[in-house]
Amino acid sequence: MKNALLSCILTISSILIANMAIYAMRRRKVPGAFAFSLLLFAISFHSLGYAFELLSDTVDKMYFGVRFEYIGISFYPVIIAVFARQYADERRILTKSITSLLITISIATLIFVNTNTYHLLYYKSLGIDSTFGFNVLKLEKGIWYYVQSAALIFSNIYGVAAFAAKSKKSRGDYRKRALFMLTGCSIPVVVFVIYILGMGPAYIDIMTFAYMPMSLLIGVGMFRYEILFLTPVTHEMVFNSIDEAVIVADKNGRLISCNDSAKSIFPSMKRIGIGESLYLIEELCEYDFESDLDGYEIEGKIYSLKVIEMKGGRGRIYVANDITESEMAKKQLKKMAITDALTGIYNRRHFMEKLENEKTEGAFAIIDIDHFKNINDTFGHVEGDKVLVGFANKLKNSFSNDLVCRYGGEEFALFMDIYDLEMAFKRIEEFRKNIAEDKSGINFTFSAGVAKYRRKNLSECIVEADRRLYEAKGNGRNRVVY
Ligand code: GH3
Ligand code: MG
Ligand code: MG
Repeated sequence: MKNALLSCILTISSILIANMAIYAMRRRKVPGAFAFSLLLFAISFHSLGYAFELLSDTVDKMYFGVRFEYIGISFYPVIIAVFARQYADERRILTKSITSLLITISIATLIFVNTNTYHLLYYKSLGIDSTFGFNVLKLEKGIWYYVQSAALIFSNIYGVAAFAAKSKKSRGDYRKRALFMLTGCSIPVVVFVIYILGMGPAYIDIMTFAYMPMSLLIGVGMFRYEILFLTPVTHEMVFNSIDEAVIVADKNGRLISCNDSAKSIFPSMKRIGIGESLYLIEELCEYDFESDLDGYEIEGKIYSLKVIEMKGGRGRIYVANDITESEMAKKQLKKMAITDALTGIYNRRHFMEKLENEKTEGAFAIIDIDHFKNINDTFGHVEGDKVLVGFANKLKNSFSNDLVCRYGGEEFALFMDIYDLEMAFKRIEEFRKNIAEDKSGINFTFSAGVAKYRRKNLSECIVEADRRLYEAKGNGRNRVVY
């Protein structure tokens, strides 16, 4: 009578669990849902087989129930392990070879249970025990029974550890769901301990009654929290095939996932758990996520940051790319385009551009080193170059608030925001004296012609400055004419 009641409860439970299995199968895109569905099917077989076993009174009928149970039980270890691995995204412990071993054990178990009479590997003997007042199958365990039990213990402990690690890493809803999973997976472990310690009823397989709460807890964890998922395949593909940092966040700016590159580019990511705010990324604390800046500098490197909106505003994907090299090359090119290669000061083209675009009025001068040919002839071209570089530096330093350039060969140009030509003359004259009196290296002099610049008279201004320079040369050099 009591058995009939238990059997009835188990039948109902197994039907409910099978329904849940179908539901999970329909939603198999959710990570872990497929394995969870298989787990529920396995459980359902176990419960139904045991319900039949409870109602039977002969060894043959009871063993028929056992064989039915083992359609499910045989595969528990591998299903639980794969489920935990998929859901908790753990890859280090459950390697391919361990998974293959678990599959082999499962298949062997199914075969051994069904062919037990020939080898007695699973059960050494089968009989009826009537000491409880009704018939119970009396089984003496064989060698393979212990192998299957070891696989089951391993998988259950692995599952609990994987979910415990996942819940420790996660925050918010993500943590809640991981805790549901963890609690669900812990139930069989607890029941198993009760069974081992002999604390449960000796004649009933209490595990079958633990399935309902276990399935419900895992199911709630899996489907109750609407959390955004990437399918594992996409995850693998996107995350492991590229060097760019990829960070996926939900609509509230909380971390869903990131790849290894993200952790190496933003070391503070290593301390951020799933579900935590992206604003905790120290390296990006000054970054304006709404902007589309070209480059963002982190520890001497330049990164481009691209924001991709997910469909329906469900979240965002941030992609950071190391563009240091191309940015450096761009900078270098830009610099080369505006400077003179030998002296490092502005070149003539850039000087003229600045003059035309930025200046309206002032003093323009052309400076030409006197008898420079002699310097080359006396000291050689290399020394001549050094004189040019030294002169360019002195010119730049003496007129640091003005505009200077290498005009060509041993000629330089200068622009000052000075309206009064005499004032401009005085400043160049002072510089001329300094150069003429400088005996620290090769001594030389220069001549200069100064003219008034107005925006519209650039070519006249150049002609005029040139003419005055020529005049200075004609008058004996080492002088400034304005
Ligand atoms: P002047 O006083 O009339 O200006 O005499 P100068 O010798 O300075 O003028 P000239 O135009 O006769 O000679 C200019 C010389 O400058 C000739 C050229 O070889 C030299 N020169 C031009 N560019 C460079 C350069 O980049 N490096 C060196 N070492 N010499 C240069
Ligand atoms: Mg010259
Ligand atoms: Mg000269």
